[in-house]
Amino acid sequence: MELAECDLCGNRDFEAISQKDRHGEMLETVACRQCGLVRHAVVPTEQELQEFYSTNYRKAYNGESSPGVRRIMRAWKNGTRICRQVQPHLKPQGRVLEVGAGIGCTVKVFDQNGFNAEGIDPGSEFLAFSRDKLKAKVHTANVYDLPRRSDYDAILLVHVIEHVRSPRAALEHIAGLIKPGGMFYVECPNLQAPFARRSRLFHTAHIHNFVPSTLMMLARSCGFQLVQRFGDEQDPNLQMLFQHCGEPQMEIDSANYQRTVHELARTNAVPYTLRLRYLRDRLKKLVGYVDEYARAQRFVDQLIKDCGGLANSPVPSAALANRAA
Ligand SMILES: [Zn+2]
Repeated sequence: MELAECDLCGNRDFEAISQKDRHGEMLETVACRQCGLVRHAVVPTEQELQEFYSTNYRKAYNGESSPGVRRIMRAWKNGTRICRQVQPHLKPQGRVLEVGAGIGCTVKVFDQNGFNAEGIDPGSEFLAFSRDKLKAKVHTANVYDLPRRSDYDAILLVHVIEHVRSPRAALEHIAGLIKPGGMFYVECPNLQAPFARRSRLFHTAHIHNFVPSTLMMLARSCGFQLVQRFGDEQDPNLQMLFQHCGEPQMEIDSANYQRTVHELARTNAVPYTLRLRYLRDRLKKLVGYVDEYARAQRFVDQLIKDCGGLANSPVPSAALANRAA
């Protein structure tokens, strides 16, 4: 069977690099022999994707579902981090759009920092929460529904690009939404990060897997220039800020294919300092979990109050049990 051409460079020559996903299920993953972009061998159709997201991935699909408090607190922290990173590069009160806004926390953080912020999400699972509790401007839409009128100062694409059938089509469309000289912030998992163990890497929902080089090649070929990369080589996520310069430049990093395949095949060759770093990060994460359990409900109640939303904190289960007794 002939595979669909590489979304980044158009090549049709691939190397199979894995047959299983992170749960041990069959999932063939390939690397493009020209640019090194890693993706599912068979890219799902739009219809298959819609079925996947409506049945397997998100249970509720009517916008009425409520996210858990720990999830909200994490999303708020992430939104705060992203705003801190991007804000110095934006003009005050600029128009910011998040594509794939999810819970709506990032949109609200930008709004609170003086930007004219809005978000779209095709699934809109948490639409009611975003609107009624956070008072965030989020609505149900697909990015391709938006007319390419170059009227946004910045667009955010956070953990979305790995899920779409054609990252190129998405970025080319987004380029048409941004003002000349405007900003584009993208975040996604980094396939090159150490400790993403090979057997745990691949995920049915992640159609394309990026490394720094492939994300930069793709963005440049869609008319963007790198302004700043946040985090470091060990960070599990790529965090990159680009500027829309309007001059698409297709330059293949020919060393990337060999480098990517080589690094994926490498086993247990992680140096001591990196192992220490890993342990430190794990410990930090564990401490974070404990902190989350203790603080999440209060944090979210206060957040909703601050956002001017309608409070309806659920009755804690302990209180219910006492009442029943
Ligand atoms: Zn390619």
